[in-house]
Amino acid sequence: MLIDAHSHVDRYDLVGEGALEAALAEITQHGIFTISNSMDLPSYKRNLAIGERCDLVLPIFGVHPWNAAQYADRLEELSEAIEQSPMLGEIGLDYYFIEDASEYPAQKKVFEFFLAAAREQGKIINLHTKGAEEAALELLDRYDIPRAIVHWYSGPLDVFRELVARGAYFTVGAEVLYSEHIQTIAREIPSEHLFTETDNPGGPKGFIGGPGMPLLIRDVIKGIAEARKTTMEAVIQTVQSNMLQLTRDDPWLADTGGFLALSERGN
Ligand SMILES: [Zn+2]
Repeated sequence: MLIDAHSHVDRYDLVGEGALEAALAEITQHGIFTISNSMDLPSYKRNLAIGERCDLVLPIFGVHPWNAAQYADRLEELSEAIEQSPMLGEIGLDYYFIEDASEYPAQKKVFEFFLAAAREQGKIINLHTKGAEEAALELLDRYDIPRAIVHWYSGPLDVFRELVARGAYFTVGAEVLYSEHIQTIAREIPSEHLFTETDNPGGPKGFIGGPGMPLLIRDVIKGIAEARKTTMEAVIQTVQSNMLQLTRDDPWLADTGGFLALSERGN
């Protein structure tokens, strides 16, 4: 079984007619367990509808730092979706793509609202840290978040190593095929904390020249295998057993069905 621990399946709507159907067909045909992150409330609603259609797609709720400014003064509107979501993402900080520093307090306010809920409800978070790695790490410590999946980490190695030391999980995506820095990170992630991702459909666009399709995860696995000097099969096994470990004792993920059913079939 293949695992895409950070994707945005709802955003295939924006790719064009038939794109979502094609993506879901690929996910089903190749057995790709896909964690579908949300950008905001409408995005979560769409992900929920897609999750109803395909049990390999796990919809999760978050407000992306790019959209945080819209929600900073309406936090109470987020509570119901947070409560319902088995994992929280995509959440975090972005001081790289958002250059207007006047938005940073709003980003922090929304992120901290999610962190407080994650701690209180014992949920895993799916985390964006672009250009704000140190600030994100500091907040993980302050809110005492034990289980964070850090998505597409590309920041400084010293902060990366601190995240490793505090037990964070990491997803590695398509950039591993193109960047030595990402290859170094892919090599250093402890085996038991390694996950694979695509950030589809928009995330890999800059590298592959168009929207990513779910099977891009195979290329990612190949890139990780090369960086870690191992086989694709070994990476697949490692990531699968990590996901099993992560979900097994998690009451929020226990009845999400798709992943555990698939792993029990020995797929
Ligand atoms: Zn993302």
